[in-house]
Amino acid sequence: MNAEWSHLATVSHLVVALDLDGTLIPFAPTPQDARVDGDTATLLDALGDLPGVTVGIISGRPRALIEDLPARFPKLSFAAEHGVWRFADGAWSAQMPPVPQLDEIAHTLSVLARRHPGALVERKSCSVCLHWRRVDAEHHDQIMREAETAVDEWLETHRGLERLPVTEALEVRHTAAHKGNALAWLRGRGHPGATVLAIGDDITDEDLFVSLREHDLGILVADVPRRTQASLRLPSPAAVHRFLRWLIEARLRQGSLVPEDLVVQARAPRPPTAAKLIVASNRLPAAPSGDRKREVGGLVSALLPALSQAGGMWLGWSGAERDPGLRLRIEDGESFTRAQFDYPPSWRDKFYTGFCNQSLWPLLHAFPGRVRYLDDEWRCYLDANKAYADLLIQAGGVTADIWIQDFHLMLAGRELRRGGHRGRIGFYLHVPFPPLDLFETMPWAAEVLSALLEYDRIGLQCQRWADNLIITARGLLGPEAEHRARERVRVNPVGIDPDRFAEAAQRPPDPEVGSFDRLLGDRKLILGVDRLDYSKGIPERLEGFAMLLERYPEWRNKVSFVQVSVPTRSEVPEYAELRTRVETLVGRINGAYGEADWVPVRYLYRSYDQDVLAQLYRDAAVGLVTPLRDGMNLVAKEYVAAQNAADPGVLVLSKFCGAAERMPLAVLTNPYHVDGVASDLDCALRMAHADRVARHAALRSTVWQDTASAWAQSFLADLRGS
Ligand code: UDP
Repeated sequence: MNAEWSHLATVSHLVVALDLDGTLIPFAPTPQDARVDGDTATLLDALGDLPGVTVGIISGRPRALIEDLPARFPKLSFAAEHGVWRFADGAWSAQMPPVPQLDEIAHTLSVLARRHPGALVERKSCSVCLHWRRVDAEHHDQIMREAETAVDEWLETHRGLERLPVTEALEVRHTAAHKGNALAWLRGRGHPGATVLAIGDDITDEDLFVSLREHDLGILVADVPRRTQASLRLPSPAAVHRFLRWLIEARLRQGSLVPEDLVVQARAPRPPTAAKLIVASNRLPAAPSGDRKREVGGLVSALLPALSQAGGMWLGWSGAERDPGLRLRIEDGESFTRAQFDYPPSWRDKFYTGFCNQSLWPLLHAFPGRVRYLDDEWRCYLDANKAYADLLIQAGGVTADIWIQDFHLMLAGRELRRGGHRGRIGFYLHVPFPPLDLFETMPWAAEVLSALLEYDRIGLQCQRWADNLIITARGLLGPEAEHRARERVRVNPVGIDPDRFAEAAQRPPDPEVGSFDRLLGDRKLILGVDRLDYSKGIPERLEGFAMLLERYPEWRNKVSFVQVSVPTRSEVPEYAELRTRVETLVGRINGAYGEADWVPVRYLYRSYDQDVLAQLYRDAAVGLVTPLRDGMNLVAKEYVAAQNAADPGVLVLSKFCGAAERMPLAVLTNPYHVDGVASDLDCALRMAHADRVARHAALRSTVWQDTASAWAQSFLADLRGS
């Protein structure tokens, strides 16, 4: 008998968690038609009668659709809506309060659905689902992108909720409304230390499987192998019945034989050969989905050729939190394999929001006044970096080339070496590296730096950050470390796909851009586009614009400043304060300078699709990009790419971002100097046509030279030669 499941017959205490549709009973056109028939009922009764066995049905159905079952099966426990509703000891109870904020996103999605015939919004107590199965297939991609943009933007300011990809649908739900939590509840109803058997067929049942512990057993119901966290597979609900009958027999008459027709199959095998190249980042980029090729982020598309050539893999956080978390889920994608895992419960607060966003982000961007250091969060950073390294080895072995992205994972190289990894390991820092005086304020500065020097290559956006790192190595660790740093550090600026922006900018105007144009009339547009982050200098920029209107009154009613601010990191208190500060400032400027027919500042707290941005960029006489500090700043490059070369706008660019180093023909400005920003803006607005064309030509050549794919290719070529 197979050792993987034979112990189920003999363990003294067992908890059996069963999904309903597709597992215990076959699918029917609607859940209402799928009934628990007499055979299934007999089986469930017999299971429920077994001594030492606790049985629960954990269903995704709304409560109303399983409400009749507890009376029919009084010995069983029930969970509906993936565990939001639970029935035990004679009553239903909601495991969490309804989430009224979901009404907002349900409304947004309904407005979107109205524009796409066939789309449908379904509201459950703790989730909202937008379905587009019945929308014309040609529009699937568009509705999905629009929905994702709207939902992601909304999620930035709503904690405790998450977006799930579902087949031809998108679901927003409470992060705790998953079957893993329902299983924890059912486990608690069984005998302490009982073994768990979980059987399910759906993607939401993977939440059951990832919650299993050693000696527990997960069985996937699927007629063909699929990537799963379950260790066994049964082909159909009929096979599940046979398996459960065997279990009942075996537990009643110890030693009973497995029926010959029982089919238990091992899970789908892992990829036969280990990946040759693995990219790792804190968060795994969104999966391309749908039947048509979907737009993916710049980084992903830059890395696609290398990943697909090398049979590559990308590893990162799924975006979800689970207990215990850290179970790898590996899925084959079109161009590369995706390896993802969930954070354990404390990581979002301590690792991501804590050490990464409240210690490292302000430190690396040179805002020591905003930094806080907590030992507990540092320990979580150490744990997380070690866990990423362990998962990388688990997913791809010890010989793959590995390319780690960004400051969340500065220690992962050291942990990989400690774990026995022998392949080449590269690291790229997308943010700035600060001067020694600042870096050494971090209590663990020397440890972080010496861990960084374990990478074979360290990529930085510009020479200034590279110099800072080398000098810091010497200052903290001595000349030997400086030598190691010099050998490893490479300046390799991140870029964009400029053709994409150039093309999108020339398409017929998007309706949203059309309405901007009408509001603008003959006025010149000054455009700012950023995440609402303190490093971007948005209040300082607004002050600079106000000073322009004050000192150069001839521009009043002749210019409009549009600032797009994308919601970000709302869980960090400074970001909420920044939002209030910016909104107050916008109100003050509009109040002071506005006229009946002119609003000086249009402030948009939302995000736009990059195709829409490209058109806004092209309309703007001035691209105003004034971060106080920024690793690179891609908006500056996108603005240049989208211009009409025959009549281009002017880029006013902060001296303090990586982009400035290779764009000296932008109007370089000091964002801390309000009068200076005002006069630079004035100069940009007045710039003669010939000067604009000449400067743009120079900037353009840099943007087309330093592309995203050039960045990826040159880093990888250098790493492989190391
Ligand atoms: N972006 C976007 N929609 C928006 C605003 C920004 O897609 O409404 C994109 C923008 O096109 C750019 C990125 O967000 O590619 C911002 O990158 P950048 O390097 O300027 O700053 P970061 O946010 O990475 O600090």
